[in-house]
Amino acid sequence: MPLGEFELIDRWFAHAGASRTDVVLGVGDDAALVAPPAGYELALAADTLVEGTHFPAGLDPAAIGHRVLAVNLSDLAAMGAEPAWALLTLTLPRTDEAWLAQFAHGLDTLARRTGTALVGGDTTAGPLVVTIAIAGLVPTGQALRRAGARAGDLVFVSGLPGEAAAGLGVLQGRLAGTAAAEAVVKARFLWPEPRLSLGVALRGLASACIDVSDGLAGDLGKLCAASGVGARIQAASLPVSAELAALAGPEAARLCLAGGDDYELLFTAPARHRDRIEALGGARISVIGEIVAGQGVVVEGLAGAPFDLGGYDHFRG
Ligand code: ADP
Ligand code: MG
Repeated sequence: MPLGEFELIDRWFAHAGASRTDVVLGVGDDAALVAPPAGYELALAADTLVEGTHFPAGLDPAAIGHRVLAVNLSDLAAMGAEPAWALLTLTLPRTDEAWLAQFAHGLDTLARRTGTALVGGDTTAGPLVVTIAIAGLVPTGQALRRAGARAGDLVFVSGLPGEAAAGLGVLQGRLAGTAAAEAVVKARFLWPEPRLSLGVALRGLASACIDVSDGLAGDLGKLCAASGVGARIQAASLPVSAELAALAGPEAARLCLAGGDDYELLFTAPARHRDRIEALGGARISVIGEIVAGQGVVVEGLAGAPFDLGGYDHFRG
């Protein structure tokens, strides 16, 4: 007999994630109860992964569990918030115990490492869709926002944008290279690392921040629109890794600018903070351009034919 809904929740999700003293009541009642500390604001976000849209069918279930939490943690990182509590909504075609064990393991490992408690959710049958809604904490008034960039600020990005898109290309058989380069970029797609400590460190330093999920240039366009400014990016300053260059050749800069699935932080700050920002440990940080008066994102020195920098739109493709 297949596992029922309630055994499934009990076995895999009732005790998943970090245990936190501010969880008054976790999985098992009609709603969870949590006790937010005084002096903090709650940062709330939700993100869904749809099989066939956000990841190819048949992907490693542990990576799906990791990614659905990582993309939510990335939204908290972009706000300068620290994770606290998460809800998991699962729509599953069937109760495949091996699949669930691996999915829960991927989710639980990242949740414990980041101090995220899983306090509830919902479970239904249907095509594979996984959603997390997350709550984080940020000291009152200190959250980073998309609005706040000023003309003259520098534009920074963490990590190596474009590698995740190349990794998806390898997984889908569209890109190929050495085994070592393929392993690097596939891991970037499967196991994105949310930049939580960077987000917290940028409180008081960054003037605006967004996480890169739909492509660097498109997401920079959103930050600029929210801030009422434009940006000038230098193609020669983009952090294109040796692996990305080897796998994507002349397409490398395009993947870096428009690839998506990076979950890096893209942020602006006055030039006087540059040294302090570059000295922050953890992720690699690159200055890729500057904020200008006006509107729109211009990339200078891009070789080859011009292309749409717009970023992904689920209804326009
Ligand atoms: P309700 O009948 O109120 O919708 P459910 O029977 O769906 O509640 O869920 C029972 C309990 O299990 C609730 O506390 C709910 O938050 C939790 N829960 C359901 N699905 C999940 C899941 N996928 N992960 C974590 N907790 C879950
Ligand atoms: Mg209920």
